[in-house]
Amino acid sequence: MSRTVGVLALQGAFAAHSAVLRSLGIDTVEVRTAEQLACVDALVLPGGESTTMSMLLERFGVLEPLRSRIHDDRLPVLGTCAGLILLADEILDGRADQHCLKALPLSARRNGYGRQLASFETDLDIIGLDAPFHGIFIRAPIVERIGDAVEVLAEVDGQPVLCRYEGVTVASFHPELAGDARLHRQWLSDAGLITG
Ligand code: GLN
Repeated sequence: MSRTVGVLALQGAFAAHSAVLRSLGIDTVEVRTAEQLACVDALVLPGGESTTMSMLLERFGVLEPLRSRIHDDRLPVLGTCAGLILLADEILDGRADQHCLKALPLSARRNGYGRQLASFETDLDIIGLDAPFHGIFIRAPIVERIGDAVEVLAEVDGQPVLCRYEGVTVASFHPELAGDARLHRQWLSDAGLITG
């Protein structure tokens, strides 16, 4: 059976995620509606601006269907940067009307590394990968709390930057900009959507 991976395409860095998935030979669709969401076997929530994405999810009628696919269908999801914030169960320094999907027990502090000056790049040792992965952090959130069942796959200065919880993987950096498909492959493999 052919499997399709969606990339939430309401705002932000969705095109680069689609390109990485296609480079792995995965059928990929951009998701902007509840109908499109209903047809995917996994979903990427990209980086961008989590407050804007939250507002657009509500306006386009995708927020509740997405909650239901994550919680009722256990849809595998990969959230990067703003996507991590959306998937958290608590947002610190968010807007009062900003929604979170509570896909995993994790608190995310928006722009936790500071504002514009706090973008940086560093090589990461990631559990499951045999060589370092280049981490690109852009106004990244800081993960301030995780539940016991959350697995930390990479850290920077003792703080988690890549976490896994059941079929949910979240990164505070931008793996889609690294020119390296290994992290997407690992998530797809965890989800049983790719072999190896
Ligand atoms: N600071 C952004 C937010 O709060 C996230 C930045 C990013 O996705 N690169 O949504």
